[in-house]
Order: sequence, then C-alpha cells, then structure tokens
Amino acid sequence: MTRSYEIIDHEFDVVVVGAGGAGLRAGFGCAEKGLKTAILSKVFPTRSHTVAAQGGIAAALSNMGDDSWQYHMYDTVKGGDWLGDQDAIEYMCREAIPAVIELEHYGVPFSRNMAGKIYQRPFGGMTTEFGEGKPAQRTCAAADRTGHAILHTLYTQALKHKAQFFIEYFALDLIMSDDGVCLGVMAWDLDTGILHRFRAHETILATGGYGRTYFSCTSAHTCTGDGNAMVLRAGLPLQDMEFIQFHPTGIYGAGCLITEGVRGEGGYLTNSEGERFMERYAPSAKDLASRDVVSRSMTIEIREGRGVGPERDHIYLNLMHLEPEVIMERLPGIAESSRIFAGVDVTKEPIPVIPTAHYNMGGIPTNYQAQVIRPTKKDPNAIVPGLMAIGEAACVSVHGANRLGSNSLLDIVVFGRAAAITAAKTVTAGESHKPLSGDDGSKAIDRLDHYRYAKGGTSTSDLRLKMQKTMQEHAAVFRTGEVLEEGVTKINKCFAEKVDLGIKDRSMIFNTDLVEVLELDNLMSQAVVAMHSAANREESRGAHAREDFPDRDDKKWMKHTIVYIDDKGKTRFEYRPVSMKTLTDEVNPFPPKKRVY
Ligand SMILES: Cc1cc2nc3c(=O)[nH]c(=O)nc-3n(C[C@H](O)[C@H](O)[C@H](O)COP(=O)(O)OP(=O)(O)OC[C@H]3O[C@@H](n4cnc5c(N)ncnc54)[C@H](O)[C@@H]3O)c2cc1C
Repeated sequence: MTRSYEIIDHEFDVVVVGAGGAGLRAGFGCAEKGLKTAILSKVFPTRSHTVAAQGGIAAALSNMGDDSWQYHMYDTVKGGDWLGDQDAIEYMCREAIPAVIELEHYGVPFSRNMAGKIYQRPFGGMTTEFGEGKPAQRTCAAADRTGHAILHTLYTQALKHKAQFFIEYFALDLIMSDDGVCLGVMAWDLDTGILHRFRAHETILATGGYGRTYFSCTSAHTCTGDGNAMVLRAGLPLQDMEFIQFHPTGIYGAGCLITEGVRGEGGYLTNSEGERFMERYAPSAKDLASRDVVSRSMTIEIREGRGVGPERDHIYLNLMHLEPEVIMERLPGIAESSRIFAGVDVTKEPIPVIPTAHYNMGGIPTNYQAQVIRPTKKDPNAIVPGLMAIGEAACVSVHGANRLGSNSLLDIVVFGRAAAITAAKTVTAGESHKPLSGDDGSKAIDRLDHYRYAKGGTSTSDLRLKMQKTMQEHAAVFRTGEVLEEGVTKINKCFAEKVDLGIKDRSMIFNTDLVEVLELDNLMSQAVVAMHSAANREESRGAHAREDFPDRDDKKWMKHTIVYIDDKGKTRFEYRPVSMKTLTDEVNPFPPKKRVY
C-alpha cells in the first residue's frame, strides 16, 4: 500500500518539462506571449546536455558562399533516407534562417568570418545544388562550443521574460484525464523531498534523448529519456525508435565526442595502413559523408582487420596537418578533450576514435506545430490535447532514419519556438483549470513509493549495465535478424528483472539512489521498444543497417513505426505514413531515390 505524501499544488498556463535548448526556447517563448509558464528541470538549466554540443547549428545563411534553404531541405530529406516528413523538414529549413539571426540578436557569440558575418563550416551531408554541387558551408559555429553559447543565451532570455523555474525538480509522470487529455505533471522536489502537482493547459515535454540505454555513448548521464517513458506509461506510443545514430568519432574508451566539425575543418580518418579509406566508400563526400555511412565504413575497416591500436579495434582521426592556429581558434575544446581523455596532442598525433551511440532519431511523435500525435484508425495525425513534445525527446520527424550533424541544435530552437506559437493559439492566459477526472497524480506516487521501498536483491547499477551491454552488442551499427532476436530475448529478461530491484536509501531529500532507479525504469522501457522495433523492421534505411535485409524497401517500409508497450513489457506495432507533401509551392516534394555520397 502506498504511504501518504504531502503534495503542493500549482496552476500554470503552460508547464515545460526540461530546460535544455528546446525547453528554454519554448518556455521563454510562452512567457513572452503573456502565458504563465513554469520550466522544470532535474538539473540546473545550463547543465543540460545541450551545453555539450560542439560543432554548430545549420542554416542556409549564404555567409560563406551560395546556399538556399531548399538545398538544406533536400540534404535533410536525403540524409534521413526518405523517412522524414517533408512538411516538417520544409518548415525547419526555412525557419532556420530567421531562427539563427534571432539567436544572434539574443546574444549568442558566434565565430565570425572576415566580413564580420556569422562563420559557417562544412558538415557531413550538407551540399549545394541538390547534392550535385560543392559541399555547403552551412553550419554556424561558436568555435567548438556552440551548444554552450546557445544554452547560456537562452537561459538569460528565460530569466528576462520571467518564466518561473523549478530547478532540481524531477518530473515523475503525466496526469492524464479519463478521456485522454493531458492535465499536467507530477514532480518531486529533490531539495526538500516534497511532491508537487502542476496543472497546465499545455504540458511541453523537452526532456532530451535516451542515449544512456547504451554502454558507450556521447550523451550525459542525465539523458535517460524520462519524458519518452512517461508517454509510454500514459499508454501513448513512441515513433521510429529503431533509428539510433552512432557518431563516427567518439574517443576510443572514453566515449566523449569529437565533433564532426573536425572533419569539416579538414580532418580525416585513416586505418592501420595509413589509408584514407573514406575515399573508397564515399568517393565524392569522403570523410564528410553522412554519419551512418561513415560509421559503417569504419566498422567494416575494423572487421576486416584494418583497425588501429594493439587490438586493431579502432580508427585514427588526423588533424596534425592543420595549422595550430586554426585548431586553437576553431577547435579548442576538442584539443582539450583529446588531451584529457586520450592523452593526445592533436597537433602531433592522431586521435583514437570509434563509432559511439550519439543521438535518438525516434521519440514522441508530433506534428510540426509540436503537438503530440496518437494515431487512430480514422486519423493517423490525431493529436493528444494538452500535450506537446520538442527537441531530442520528439520525433517530428525531421531527421527521418538518420540525422545530419548540426540539424539538432536547429530542431530544438525551431520547434521550441513553434511550441510557444502553438501554445499562444490554444491557451488563453489565466483560463481556469477543470477539476481532475481520473488520475490525480496517484499513479506517479504509487510508482515512486514502490521503488522507494524496493527491497529486492538486484542493484540498479548491475541491471543498468546488463541493459546497456545488451543494447551495445545487439542493436549496434550493423544488425542481423539472429542477433536482434537474441537481443529481444535478453532485453525482455532485463525488463522482467526490474521486479527484483532493491535500493538502500529510503529518504526523500536528494535521494540519488531513488533517482537512479526511476531513471533505469525509464531507460528500460525505451531499450525494449528500441530493440523490438529494430527486430521488426526488415530493411536497411539510414542508421538501421540490417545485414540480412541490405536494401531499402520503400514499398513495404516507407512508413513510421508506432510502438506501444504495456506494463509487462509486451510491445504492439502500428504504422503511420511518411508525409510527402510540402507546405508551400516554393519547393516540390523530393521523391525517393538511391542514397549515395
Ligand atoms: C556531445 C554532444 C555534442 C553534440 N553536438 C551537436 C552539434 O554540434 N550540433 C547539433 O545540432 N547537435 C549536437 N548534438 C545533439 C544536440 O545537442 C541534442 O540533441 C540537443 O541539444 C538536445 O536538446 P534538448 O533540449 O532536447 O535536451 P537536453 O539538452 O538533453 O535537455 C533535457 C532537459 O530535460 C530535463 N529533464 C530530463 N528528464 C527530466 C525529469 N524527469 N524531470 C525534470 N527535468 C528533466 C533535463 O534536466 C534537461 O534540462 C550533440 C549532442 C551531444 C551529446
């Protein structure tokens, strides 16, 4: 039986869960429009994973040569291997230009070119003339600390517009009415140990990705996809969870990221024979082919015995040929990370790298107005009233089966802003809240109480490691039916072992033991749906490379996976069509074709 807990009630027009780039942009946007807005975050806002973004944010500003948002749109559609929704992609690439200028005006200290304009570097998969022209210099950068610069600027904007912060509040679960409307969210104030019930006309999930389902990943320890898991527990689906991006250049052993900006500035990969092997796999884009292509090429080199190091199990990234001044001006952060985490002086030695889990293309399905979708038989685009999702937690889907580098910082600001625009339309400031029908937050408290007093013999860290290793081994860069089926069995077993979890600390104040077990529970449902979705999709597309189904199968599989999970870990699949329509007649839809770089 659940013990009784003190609850403090709040009423807001809008509650944003998450204070990364997406949450802050949405939150101050709502506040700016006169809506009473709360922003909740489990960590201090400027510690959100957005702070770690290095390389930059894409926008066709044409500061360094001819460019257009239509070229950017084509690259994004192709990069996503035709699984992205073209209406949403058009929206993002068109809005990119004013969005980056807006960031500049808010105060983001972008690097500059000789003309004093925002500096832009080449990035993987970014081209001109619909893939026929030169690589595009499209990625706007603040040295190699772009996320840091953007996150701090957005935080100051949120303070300026007086969004109300609830910092170190851990959101537990959504409050859903009997008729499927989201009425708010339950949260636990880690500092005082008191529970809070937030009522809102719109709840915006901006909780980031779930990279920590993997053993080796570039994402922060906080990236546990809590919002995605809350959606699953509310009986709502996630979309395209089989598509997980491996970044080609994580530091071997440590997992920390070395930005693609290194290759954008002229860095290149070599194998044990000193060969620039990307020339063989992607003759035209070479080291700047898109991430899935480069990660697969590296994996093949290692498998065929041409890896470097004593165990021949990684690859070298070279930038010794670059001028030290260029490195110090454009890539100071990675010079520092390489020294600390690999013991390498990048001006003299190559960096040991390996493909590392980096980004989740899948997540909470939304339309381009950021409203969450729960498809019905009649309407594949039916929305969940009162609920929105943005950022890495969401699947709009602008990244399709594979995200292009520098399109995520873009996604978070464009759709963060879109969420505020939508909220201003759907919510009247100060409108009264209907009485709660159905759940009043008790379900969230039952779950918290269950884990708080869990007495089983399995530790959180042991089960987490087992889950992470299973994902690492069975849902990797290359996949086959057999390995995936084994992965399904193993991950189901991990899910079942949750019943035996036990923790030691029963307090409510800053109980990190309890936080970790709640996060593991969240990760686990996402690991299960990701593994099941990967086993289910019998084709290769973008980041999902099946050796037993090496080709893309547009006839059968050009559709989004919709996946539900019940509390026993049983999954159920449905599908949604990919949107092939554009929003305006300024661009025509790009029909599918073979994806070569
Ligand atoms: C190392 C690295 C480098 C990257 N570099 C680039 C780049 O150069 N260009 C690019 O485009 N993309 C890059 N990306 C991807 C991009 O940075 C992320 O996808 C993006 O920043 C995610 O932003 P977000 O706002 O969705 O989530 P996050 O920044 O992860 O923020 C999530 C927020 O949710 C909060 N939260 C989560 N769970 C809860 C809970 N239960 N209760 C309360 N609050 C909660 C957290 O406290 C946090 O505030 C990079 C990613 C990594 C990991």
